[in-house]
Amino acid sequence: MPYTNLEVRTDGTFSPCCLSTYSYKKEDGTTYNIETDSVTEVWESADRIKHANAIDNSEIATCNHCWNIEKTQGYSKRIFESDKRGSVINDTPRSLDIKFNNVCNLKCVICSPINSSLWYSDYEKLKGYKFDNSKYKWIHHVDVYDKFKIYLQHAELLEFYGGEPLLIKNHYDILKHCVDSGISKDQKIRTNTNGTVKITDELLDTYSKFKYVGLNWSIDSVIKEEFEYQRYPANFDNVISNLQYVIQNKPDSVALSITYTVNAMNILSIGEMIKFVKTHKLFLHLNLLNWPNFLNFNILPKSQIVNYVSSIDDADVLYNGITLDTIKQYHESDNRDYLAGKMKDYLTSLDAIRKTDFKKTFPKLKEFLDDY
Ligand code: SF4
Repeated sequence: MPYTNLEVRTDGTFSPCCLSTYSYKKEDGTTYNIETDSVTEVWESADRIKHANAIDNSEIATCNHCWNIEKTQGYSKRIFESDKRGSVINDTPRSLDIKFNNVCNLKCVICSPINSSLWYSDYEKLKGYKFDNSKYKWIHHVDVYDKFKIYLQHAELLEFYGGEPLLIKNHYDILKHCVDSGISKDQKIRTNTNGTVKITDELLDTYSKFKYVGLNWSIDSVIKEEFEYQRYPANFDNVISNLQYVIQNKPDSVALSITYTVNAMNILSIGEMIKFVKTHKLFLHLNLLNWPNFLNFNILPKSQIVNYVSSIDDADVLYNGITLDTIKQYHESDNRDYLAGKMKDYLTSLDAIRKTDFKKTFPKLKEFLDDY
């Protein structure tokens, strides 16, 4: 959100938020970058202020994800963040979303080398050329603490997403700074984890010093084979065991939720996840896949999605934002079956590299893609 939030991406560019496709630009048209520019320069830039003034009055194309959700009466991030942090243009960011780098121990099918270093070799095999990773090293050239220290004290919310934040030392350093300087008791955190890294008692103790910690576990299926295909090469049993440990040992400040990135591979097993979150009394954050567009769930036939989703009993689910109703309406608004061939080619190529088999793992998807 341009009036309250600032995102630093894995390549060091700045954006209004994690869903926007925009990078803030200087007057000469070049993009700001954390390696060369200060947070103040970006925050006070004409471009950032122009965005903040425009966001409520016009449909900025790079914010399409939120506008599309709002058209279907969904609770978009734009509205969610405005409700939480207001829509007044602030002197400093009220929330900071810092993506330190793309270090990750997984190469999820929906991801790419931009957010996961483990993706490099598969990318090269898919494309026939190497991924240029030179842009994803700002963390080695920037003193993170020095860059952010004056903003941390004004930030009510800190967000840490992928790569995998729990593998990145700077993430722990910032949390320690907030605790040691006494500001953590007034701060909230939101973090995603892929669940493969066991959360230590020391980290749980650090979390207990914050006002609130929204800890989101990215679990895209509770069917082992489906999960392990999508979140390659994670081990489902380890992830669930790590989750159970946190459920049993978390301090009161930690609220656990499952982030289920809804896409063409898992839309037809979302009912299993609904049962799982009900059993464990976890919040459910439905994240509608934005990119890659050829894995979007609305490539599948409308009637199949609507009939399936309508059959699910989601009474008492603790949703964190988007609900199953949003999915039904979103699907009606935006069918993309013209991308089915691209999805089939992509999964087939990936299977050849990874020795996986989407046809075996997702039989209903196979049936649909057989026609393409
Ligand atoms: S865990 Fe997150 S960053 Fe890592 S590969 Fe998966 S989606 Fe990408």
